[in-house]
Amino acid sequence: MTTRCDENSVGASHGAGAKETVAIVGGGCAGALVAAHLMRMDRRPRRIVIFEPRPDLGAGVAYSTDDPRHLLNAPASAMSAFENDPTHFVTWLAQLGHDHVATDFVPRRLYRQYLQDIVTVGLRCSIPGTELTWIHETVTSLSVNEITGHRLTTLHYGQGLQYGADRVVLALGAPAPVALQALALSPTFGMISDPWCPGTMEATASTGDVLILGTGLTMVDIALALAERDPRRTVHARSRHGFLPAEHVSDGFAPWPGFDIGHPKTARDVLHGLRRATAEAQSCGGNWRNVIAAARLAAPDVWSGLCATERRRLLRHLGRRWDVARHRMSAPVTATVTELRHSGRLTVGAGRILAVVNHGSVRHPQLEVTLGGPGGHRETLMVGALIDCTGPGGDPTARSPLVAGLVADGLARLDPCGVGLDVDEHGDLRTDSATSATIHTVGWCRQGAEFEATAVPEIRRQAERLARHMSPSGDRRPPVLVPA
Ligand SMILES: Cc1cc2nc3c(=O)[nH]c(=O)nc-3n(C[C@H](O)[C@H](O)[C@H](O)COP(=O)(O)OP(=O)(O)OC[C@H]3O[C@@H](n4cnc5c(N)ncnc54)[C@H](O)[C@@H]3O)c2cc1C
Repeated sequence: MTTRCDENSVGASHGAGAKETVAIVGGGCAGALVAAHLMRMDRRPRRIVIFEPRPDLGAGVAYSTDDPRHLLNAPASAMSAFENDPTHFVTWLAQLGHDHVATDFVPRRLYRQYLQDIVTVGLRCSIPGTELTWIHETVTSLSVNEITGHRLTTLHYGQGLQYGADRVVLALGAPAPVALQALALSPTFGMISDPWCPGTMEATASTGDVLILGTGLTMVDIALALAERDPRRTVHARSRHGFLPAEHVSDGFAPWPGFDIGHPKTARDVLHGLRRATAEAQSCGGNWRNVIAAARLAAPDVWSGLCATERRRLLRHLGRRWDVARHRMSAPVTATVTELRHSGRLTVGAGRILAVVNHGSVRHPQLEVTLGGPGGHRETLMVGALIDCTGPGGDPTARSPLVAGLVADGLARLDPCGVGLDVDEHGDLRTDSATSATIHTVGWCRQGAEFEATAVPEIRRQAERLARHMSPSGDRRPPVLVPA
């Protein structure tokens, strides 16, 4: 793959025979999958440019970790990059000599390597003349111009650099959490508002006890790493409800075959349908997890049948319970969490921050945190660091100048249900006046439009459909070969 980051106003050239240029903004899992699917489908050579500032392609937030205890939260059998070749990842693992089977939860760093191989092999197997370039930069804004009837999008990055593209795919991932920022505390050394920011572990190296806001999978990852680094420290995790993710069980993956909640028009109907289906499954000896698996498959249809008000209502009432049931911990991770809780090194509970007083200094904080819990219960914790693991806020403009600029310039608008961007069924951006034919999205941006948009099964489907949308005459050539 070539790398260019020193050019000005390069990229798309139009006219007969010119190659179409697609710029993918974000080279995490979604960006890598779009590139791989495009190269597999294209019948005409194309220029693909990925903008990604991280040191590794395919890494993004989830797969940057090198910690071997950070496992995928789904078994290997669910993680193929190709929906129509479900064993692809498992075969790849075997061919590389990894001792993992389909039911294993493998280290996430291996998945990063897999995504990188998919891209590399995709290029090798693509139509001759296909170009793939990686620019190690953050895109700060987009501008759209019409040049002799041709719509060209200019990507702005670095110190005044520009790149022209015929199409742009926004594969930006989820925004960082905003709960800690919203408290508007005076910044001190141990206050970490993005747990995935490089240096988090170093920043908390000598802080002693730590309070994590949030009790989901991100908290679990961070708590495991913190506990490993310093066995003397206690990690406290608090969230509004204090629910930990549920545990995976081996027979919980197959969708419940009897799942049918009809065509609900309200959030209340959806909730009743889910309760009924769960009771039915359990009365036949089934598992609620199978109902969740079936509900996930039905989610696009159910979601598309709800108006924006009902979608907002469903998010409000189902949101956290869905997360707990859907984003589960693998058995080994559950065992470690249980052990840490038993030994008192991890405490989990319900609570909201009411006040934070720093009795130390900016560089060596000693934070007295007062939390309010259910029933008026109050709790005070003394910690050296506070980490926000509450997950993405709904507003994609909050921490992204690029998205904020798109919305301000009228090139995008927020989804009516308050999460992500407003997009059509292909993931194309909708504005007040039109749907963009040249700016597409994949991954979290589509959360409001699709309800489930952030895990590999959804992203690979979006990526494949988007590639087909961009390459309508593309064939379905056999899946990318597994590298030798
Ligand atoms: C800790 C964790 C574990 C997970 N485990 C699993 C799992 O086991 N199985 C599963 O199916 N899903 C899992 N997920 C869900 C996960 O979100 C998806 O699998 C997937 O990684 C999302 O990919 P993405 O490309 O959309 O986002 P990301 O991986 O976040 O990638 C987005 C990329 O865009 C780049 N970017 C953002 N803005 C710009 C810009 N302006 N210019 C240039 N680049 C930009 C960022 O640097 C980033 O690398 C996990 C998520 C997390 C957080």
